[in-house]
Order: sequence, then C-alpha cells, then structure tokens
Amino acid sequence: MSDSHPDLICRDLVKNFADFRAVDNINFEVPQGSFFSILGPSGCGKTTLLRMIAGFQAPSSGDLIIKGKSMIGVAPNKRPVSMVFQHLALFPTMNIGDNVGFGLRQRGVAKAQIKQRVGEVLERVGLPGVENRNVDQLSGGQRQRVAIARCMVLEPDVLLLDEPLGALDLKLREHMKIELKSLQAEFNTTFVYITHDQSEALVMSDNVAVMNHGKFEQVGTPYDIYHKPNTAFVAGFVGEANEFSARVSAVNGTRLTLTSQSGREMTVESTEALLRQGDNAQVYLRPDAIELLPLENSNSENASPGVVDSVLFNGANSLVTVKDSRGELLKVALPQTGDFANLRRGDKVLTGWQASQARCYPAEEA
Ligand code: ATP
Repeated sequence: MSDSHPDLICRDLVKNFADFRAVDNINFEVPQGSFFSILGPSGCGKTTLLRMIAGFQAPSSGDLIIKGKSMIGVAPNKRPVSMVFQHLALFPTMNIGDNVGFGLRQRGVAKAQIKQRVGEVLERVGLPGVENRNVDQLSGGQRQRVAIARCMVLEPDVLLLDEPLGALDLKLREHMKIELKSLQAEFNTTFVYITHDQSEALVMSDNVAVMNHGKFEQVGTPYDIYHKPNTAFVAGFVGEANEFSARVSAVNGTRLTLTSQSGREMTVESTEALLRQGDNAQVYLRPDAIELLPLENSNSENASPGVVDSVLFNGANSLVTVKDSRGELLKVALPQTGDFANLRRGDKVLTGWQASQARCYPAEEA
C-alpha cells in the first residue's frame, strides 16, 4: 500500500560547475510509491539533478533526504536507490540470470537465495524462465524489463530512470510507456524519471516537474501541467500551442481584451497573471480548445473568419491550419468524426474559442 510520506525530499538543492549554476535551488518531495517525472529541454540540468540523487555527484549546497535520512556524504552504493540508464548497461557476456543477480552477488547474498530472488523478479516483470538466455536473444522491450528486474531485485526505495526509452524506436517506446507505468504500480516503488519527451512524462507520471535553466517552473499532475501551466515556458513546452504576442487593450476584472501584433482582437479570462492595460503579453491556446463554428455564428466569443490552409490527418484527429484575413495562422485539432470531417484547403471557416481556454502571461523581457 502506498502511504503519503515522501520517499525523497530535495531541499534548496544547488549544483554549481565553476561559476555556472546547473541546478538552481530546487525543492520537491516525492510521495512513496509514486511516479515522478522531471521534464525539460536538453541542458536544463535534469541529469545533474538525477546524478546528485544517485550520489554520483555532490550538491554544492542543500539537502537530499531519502526515507527520512540525509544522503549528503553517503556513497552511491550505500543509498537505497538504483538507476536504469538510457543504454540499460546489461552485460553482454553474462546470461540474463547472472545480469539480474549481479548486485546480489556483489552484496554477498548466498547462491541459492540469489537463484530464488532472480527467478521471482523475472516472473514479476513478465519474463519467467529466461535466466539462461543471452542478452542478444531478447527483444528491446524484454531487455528493458531485464534492466528493471536487475534494479528491483535489490529492492530499492527509489528507482531512478535516465531517459530509458530514448534509444528505442517509436512503436516500442509507445508500448514501453504503458509497461513501465504498470511495472511501477506492480512493484509500488517510487520512480523518478527524467525525460525531454513531454508525452512520456504526461502518460506515465503521477506528478511532473517541468525544469528550465536549472529551476523547476512547475510541479503538478499531468492534467494541471497541461491545462493550467503556471508559466509561459510550461505553456509553450508541454503540448502543442498557438502562441501570440499581444498587448492588453482593456482590463475588466480577470477578463482581458488583447490585440495581437497582427491586429487580432482576443478576449481572455486570466487568473494567473496580473496584467494592466498597455502591458505586453504572451497568449497560449491549445489546438483542441479551438472550435470550428457555423459561419453564421460570427458573434460568438473570439470568432474569427478564415480559410483552411492545410489539413493534416493524424489518426483520431486532424490538425487543421486556418489562415485569417491578416495572414495569421491558427492550429485547430478536430476529431475525425465531426461535422468538419471533409474539410479541404481553401474552405471558408469560422474559428472560435472561449476566453477561459487561453492562458495569458506577461511577455518575457527581451
Ligand atoms: P540532456 O538532456 O542534454 O542530458 P540535461 O537537462 O540532463 O541535458 P545536464 O546534463 O544536467 O542537462 O547539464 C546541465 C548543464 O550543466 C549543461 O549546461 C551542461 O553543460 C552543464 N554541465 C553538466 N555537467 C557538467 C560538468 N561536469 N562540468 C561543467 N558543466 C557541466
């Protein structure tokens, strides 16, 4: 059963490389048995943060607490953590059983017990009886499960995963997202997973931290990260978005009227940003928040006439690009089955969206 006590706490964690700050005062807690992802672009400091948790790198300052104990000064092999690397790092010359039993042998566990525990853990990852096979006799997905088994046999409190799906092809990656999530639930172990792939983070995690320039911009559920991004960076990095630079032309409580650079008038309901008339703002709007309306509904909220510029079939949805009279493009995600299933380039349409669907932030200083 999962309890609500955090397995991992990072307090004011900082890592400097000479005068460059790679991890900048990070604070977070990960509840026992949960799946926590750290999502951010290349170079934002994810690996450095994970390596500090693993003990491969010492923090410049701050504290790191696992199961109530500070890990500062504790060697990697003395920490109750285990790590899965992008390239899995299975030993090609050892069979699967020896690979999985490696850590137990190093700990001096008796042979018979190793055999039993290896057998059990392979069964739990859905690979019973593969002990005598070689690594190259397994598929990419099976190797992934062996890598997890090799860690889980050591019963870590926290499993650290460093982009473990990065080297897989797209189809296997999609499949392994679901597998990893169900393995995490099966073992009820705390997973800390780093990735630059937002769909991995959104699909698997209980909580996601979005990292940028060494800081966490937001920590929240996938739903909140996607639908209620706290910052312009999160809104732009997670999921697809239409992005407008605009100036606030009127403020009425939380309701703002803005004019985009090309002259598009927009009404936005903004609770997160304190903006005043004349301020510059960034407005983000998800393609799935935009509707195509019957042409006669031109008085609807944020209604704007346009012409279909392109239709990209994407399985269950189509991504339609609509160009308005000023030449500004709007990406619209439409279900395949709706009234507009047969849209073509050149069709006249009316787009609209509710003021509460947009996110609005003060423009970043140049
Ligand atoms: P990626 O996804 O590309 O691995 P990342 O988010 O994991 O990126 P880090 O590898 O943690 O980022 O690197 C963060 C920053 O710290 C980068 O600018 C990197 O150049 C710098 N950095 C990392 N390790 C060192 C080091 N040992 N010495 C100096 N700078 C370093």
